[in-house]
Amino acid sequence: MYLLWTERPVRLPREEETHAWMETNRPWERFGLDLVYDNAPGDWIHYSEIFHATWERAREQGTGFLNVESDVIPTLDAFRAVLGCPQPICVVPYESYADPDAKIRAAHGGPKNWGAVIEERCRGGWDAHNARGGEEWAVSADLGFVRFGPAACQKVLPEESKLRLNHGLLHWTIFEQFRSKDPRDERGRVHLHWPGLLQSHLNFDEGDLAHWNPGDYATLLRTHRDYMTPGVLEIMRRYLGGSL
Ligand SMILES: [Zn+2]
Repeated sequence: MYLLWTERPVRLPREEETHAWMETNRPWERFGLDLVYDNAPGDWIHYSEIFHATWERAREQGTGFLNVESDVIPTLDAFRAVLGCPQPICVVPYESYADPDAKIRAAHGGPKNWGAVIEERCRGGWDAHNARGGEEWAVSADLGFVRFGPAACQKVLPEESKLRLNHGLLHWTIFEQFRSKDPRDERGRVHLHWPGLLQSHLNFDEGDLAHWNPGDYATLLRTHRDYMTPGVLEIMRRYLGGSL
């Protein structure tokens, strides 16, 4: 079983806690995982490439892989849960703070915005909501802490699941591959494990900015300014000059 752990070449503040946890607990040694560590320069396209390459290695060797993103703070129990589960795809959800609404809801003690999507039948069709603590099956999830078992990795990911634009999101294309084509199927195939994890992604930072083209900066500033780090605001200031 591979363990894919990716970081930026120059670590972002939101990656520090995860890095410290990984170095302290060394889950690859503790759980006998084959570590694939990557901190090569790159953006989301690079992440997509290393994700696909690890998937392909797992497929060829008849094993699976566990993906840990650089800003999700794991726990040993989370590793034990997904490694000890017989289901093909297991996720430990985490709060998606990058969504400004989620931050506001969390600040007011409202429902957590867990990064997994559940679909349910409703009058006239289907309704979707973010997972609530304890819900067991989702149709898709963020990729921050996910284990794809050997059976899941036998699927050949199609060419179109490789990102060619920074502002694509890999998890949409990956989980789409496992969505049931049977309209009578009542549940998704992504197995959720609780309690959820924390992540350190509290602000819109340089990593997020890498998804966007400078032509979008003015719009971005209007919608995300309250959540931008000083570093991002400085980049904006340099680009937009007096209009900031
Ligand atoms: Zn499971």
